[in-house]
Amino acid sequence: MLYQSTRNPAHKVDLKEAILRSLPPDNGLYMPVSLPTPDPAFWSCWRDLSFQEIGHAVASAYFGEDVPAADLQEIVDGTLSFDAPLVTLAPGDHVLELFHGPTLAFKDFGARFMARLMAWLTRGDDRLLTVLVATSGDTGGAVASAFHQVPGTRVFILYPKGKVSGLQEKQLTTLGGNIHALEVDGTFDDCQRLVKSAFLDRALAERLNLTSANSINLARLVPQSFYYIHSARQLPEGIEPVFVVPSGNFGNLTAGLLARQFGLPVRGFVAATNCNDVVPAYLRSGSYQPRPSTATISNAMDVGAPSNFDRMQALFGGSWESMKAVIHGDAFDDDTTRAAIRTVKSLHDYEIDPHAAVGWLAAGRFRAKHPGSATITLATAHPAKFIDVMEHELGPGAVEIPERLAILADRPKVATPLTADETAFKAWLAEQ
Ligand SMILES: *Cc1c(COP(=O)(O)O)cnc(C)c1O
Repeated sequence: MLYQSTRNPAHKVDLKEAILRSLPPDNGLYMPVSLPTPDPAFWSCWRDLSFQEIGHAVASAYFGEDVPAADLQEIVDGTLSFDAPLVTLAPGDHVLELFHGPTLAFKDFGARFMARLMAWLTRGDDRLLTVLVATSGDTGGAVASAFHQVPGTRVFILYPKGKVSGLQEKQLTTLGGNIHALEVDGTFDDCQRLVKSAFLDRALAERLNLTSANSINLARLVPQSFYYIHSARQLPEGIEPVFVVPSGNFGNLTAGLLARQFGLPVRGFVAATNCNDVVPAYLRSGSYQPRPSTATISNAMDVGAPSNFDRMQALFGGSWESMKAVIHGDAFDDDTTRAAIRTVKSLHDYEIDPHAAVGWLAAGRFRAKHPGSATITLATAHPAKFIDVMEHELGPGAVEIPERLAILADRPKVATPLTADETAFKAWLAEQ
């Protein structure tokens, strides 16, 4: 299968280039030249398939021409080594828990699939693949865990000193082996700038065989469409869900759109954001106005210029009318989100993290406007990852910390300190 840039359909590349290069030179995003659909038999039996079988069918439609079936199954099964349970809080009010992976966030699905696919694409190459990633928290942990001990790869994670939570820092700095944490004396934007400077230095990028692992990579999106299909099949037959997606860079919502293109019967989507509401504002007004982000308690959604917006537009042929017929937007501030965390606990005895709480609010407003509809809110992170907010609202000890997070507290942190200077960073990298 060939892939083309959203900005220039004439620029076409193969799978290896689309995944390892990640970004077309024109700054667009890679999309398949034509979106795949499944074997005709798939939609007649999908309700009886397992999570893994759904993954096999989707992955083979996308990658089956390039990757042999047995290898692809191994990649899918290795990715889906944990479940995504659907929890019903009240009639029509469902929550899809995507946080049962190793780093307790939905990013585990995309990162684990990408790591395995990249390892397959570079098998037999005698060169080490060097993955560079800047993180403000969740992405780095998921990427670190996904690539840990993957042969032929090493990862450099740049994170802003003092600006990620204690447990997030432990997820980045305690693995060792082929995972290297770089503690940058600067902001998240500085980390991104340093990463970009390394990619722009063509000689360095070529010599180190650099690749990127952020959410613009198509290999992260495709596996995220598996759980849309897996959850929809758990509703009674004839009920088409509305998926409510707490969003930042809109990779997760784009994966839902891919599932819809694949043929999944859905009633629609709700793009739920905090006050960084560039996409809900676009859906309301037709005018797209990216702007600098504002800090909130649902900080993984603090994005002012969502990196997957080009892909969303491409999926609707650039038409605002078509997009808003399928995606509804809604946004909530921190005070309302905090109140929702308390309400969900008191009504349903359920601990909902600040990101999913934004989604739950949007889901409630959607159902109030459209009685009888069934919403599936994507719970993107385990509440223990945001323990400060949770304990502030629900009291100390309100959330149990899963053991795989708790054990990190005692592991020693190993990180290389760096200044936010591009020349110094590239010189350091060149010596590795
Ligand atoms: C990354 C993240 C999001 C945003 O996902 P996008 O795909 O960037 O829209 C939402 N919630 C949590 C917990 C995240 O880590």
